[in-house]
Amino acid sequence: MQIELLKKELEYISHKVYQKGFTQATGGNISARIPGTEQVLIKRSGVSLGEVTREDVLIVNMNGEIIEGQGKPSKEIGFHLGIYKVRPDVHAVIHCHPNYAIGYACLGVELPLPTVTARKLLGYVPCVEEAPSGSKELAKYVTEAFEKHPDIKAILMKNHGVCAVGVTLEAAFNVTDLLEATAKQAFIVSQLKLSSRVLI
Ligand code: 13P
Ligand code: ZN
Repeated sequence: MQIELLKKELEYISHKVYQKGFTQATGGNISARIPGTEQVLIKRSGVSLGEVTREDVLIVNMNGEIIEGQGKPSKEIGFHLGIYKVRPDVHAVIHCHPNYAIGYACLGVELPLPTVTARKLLGYVPCVEEAPSGSKELAKYVTEAFEKHPDIKAILMKNHGVCAVGVTLEAAFNVTDLLEATAKQAFIVSQLKLSSRVLI
C-alpha cells in the first residue's frame, strides 16, 4: 500500500515538473527510495514526465535489477542509484532540463545565488563535467559531486540539465522549483547590471 501511494506521488510530481516547464518532450527522470528497503521506484525510459502514469513506474534494487514493472528503467538509473548509495539522507531524486538553469549549466559555472532565500535554502549548487546522457561517466560525475559535498541539494550538469534531491519527492520538487527561479532571477540581475550601465 505504501508503495502504491509513493507511485501516485511520483506520478503527481512528474506532472508538476512538466507543467511548470522544467523539462520538455521525454527529458527528465524521477525516482524515490522505498522507505525501509534497498529498493527504488524509478520512471520508465522514454516516457514524458507530463504523461507518466503509475504503470510507467518500475521497482529496481540497488544493482539496477528490475523487481517489478514493464519496460526499461530510465537511462539515468546509474546516478539515481549512485546518489542513494552515497547519501543515505536522500529519499528522492529529480533530474530535469529547466531553461534558465541550463543557461548556467552551458556556461559550466556554479549557479549564482543572488537572493538570501537561495543562499539559505540552496547553499551551493556546483556544475559537474559534461558526459553523454545515460553514460557511466555521467553517473560517476553526478554521484561524486553529491558524495564530495554531503550537504548539497542540487547540481547543474554541464550542457544538459540539473539534478535535485530531497528527503521526500515534494522536497526535491521544491529544490527544483527554487533552483530554476533562482537561475531566472540571476539572469535578470545580470541583464539589469548590463543595461544599468546605459540607463543610470
Ligand atoms: P530517460 O527517458 O531514459 O529517463 O532519459 C531522459 C533524460 O533526461 C536523459 O538524460
Ligand atoms: Zn536529461
